[in-house]
Amino acid sequence: MRDVSSHNPQHELTSVADHRAKVASLLTRTPVESRPLENCLGLALATDLVAPISLPPFSNSAMDGYAVRSVDLTEATQEEPVKLPVSEDIPAGRVDVPPLQPGTAHRIMTGAQLPPGADAVVPVERTDGGTGTVALFSSAQPGAHVRRAGEDVTEGTVVLTTGTRLGAAQLGVAAAVGVAELPVHRPVRVLVLSTGSELVEPGQELRRGQIYESNGLMLAAAVREAGGEPTLLRFVPDDVDAFHAALQEHLDSADLLLTSGGVSAGAYEVVKDALAGNGVEFTKVAMQPGMPQGCGRYRDAFAVVTLPGNPVSSMVSFEVFVRPAMLAAAGHATTSRHVRQAVLAGELTAPTGKRQFRRGVFDPATGEVTLQGAPGSHLLGSLAKANCLLAIPEDVTDLPAGSTVDVVLLD
Ligand code: AMP
Ligand code: MG
Repeated sequence: MRDVSSHNPQHELTSVADHRAKVASLLTRTPVESRPLENCLGLALATDLVAPISLPPFSNSAMDGYAVRSVDLTEATQEEPVKLPVSEDIPAGRVDVPPLQPGTAHRIMTGAQLPPGADAVVPVERTDGGTGTVALFSSAQPGAHVRRAGEDVTEGTVVLTTGTRLGAAQLGVAAAVGVAELPVHRPVRVLVLSTGSELVEPGQELRRGQIYESNGLMLAAAVREAGGEPTLLRFVPDDVDAFHAALQEHLDSADLLLTSGGVSAGAYEVVKDALAGNGVEFTKVAMQPGMPQGCGRYRDAFAVVTLPGNPVSSMVSFEVFVRPAMLAAAGHATTSRHVRQAVLAGELTAPTGKRQFRRGVFDPATGEVTLQGAPGSHLLGSLAKANCLLAIPEDVTDLPAGSTVDVVLLD
């Protein structure tokens, strides 16, 4: 017989790790498509990029100055410069560069091709700047001020690996090796749906009892920051038929439905009413904030993750469950944020048996983290001032000032 006295409701909570794994398993890799570089920002590279050319593609000058043979200048000093006739002018982009004859110099600009026969460049500041004849005030080591062909990237080698997030520098190097399009995983297409008859569009008049809708915009922005493509469905009323109707035209064009709100224990919980027993399982996760969670599949169409309605719960849940799953589905090699160990500035208490995520401000200069606001899951102003989440393990209930805590860096 069941021993009711020792019954611990914590045993019925799903662990953060289990729910995270379940959410991740709902999303499959998005297909690979070829995109022009200008449409690749934030996406993951789907194959290794092998450099079709070397960088630099040819040896060129690192300075404005004179291309020389270093052996012609061994005697040059400030007092007794070496004078050489200037036989050519080589601006950047000149493609017909004649060889440098012994005992002569070519005037050369930064990025211009080094003439065959030259092995060094003397910067213009170390010369008299002459155009017919030039006086050179310094000797030059072989290779001085020369950018050697292939010293950065060698043709035929991997310049970006599969799964790399394409940021500015990565797109820059792809362009530099002459690639116009890259194979990337198509962004995860996310329907962001907010429910609640109390919600009013920002900019409209607010009556007592109403609040401005914030989760939809916030989650859509988070989706975009994670490289996804959001479609915002706001102001879906707390009505099951209206909820299903809002989804109909998106059945073939979404990978994931993200809802917020409508999953608590009250009445009028439209998300729960519409989705329970309809492919979505609701559960309580051992986490604060963000205990009420759900996930599954909507009518064999798209994956569903139901986030709690309180704004901080919603965002923390997105961070913990949705963002890593979205990044994995979109082919990213790195799916987690940077985690740092920090020194807690004040003391902290946390509930037993739940992983707590508190908002904080981490100072990289001191390594200290200061709590930002109380634990309440409605305190969006505090979240907006935070730059990290403190992750307090399930078994920790009290942390004195000076304790070491893990902080998840949000920016
Ligand atoms: P619910 O789970 O629907 O009961 O929502 C929990 C709390 O979050 C309530 O205070 C709601 O008013 C609030 N909430 C729900 N959805 C949103 C939203 N889209 N924007 C702002 N607050 C919301
Ligand atoms: Mg609601």
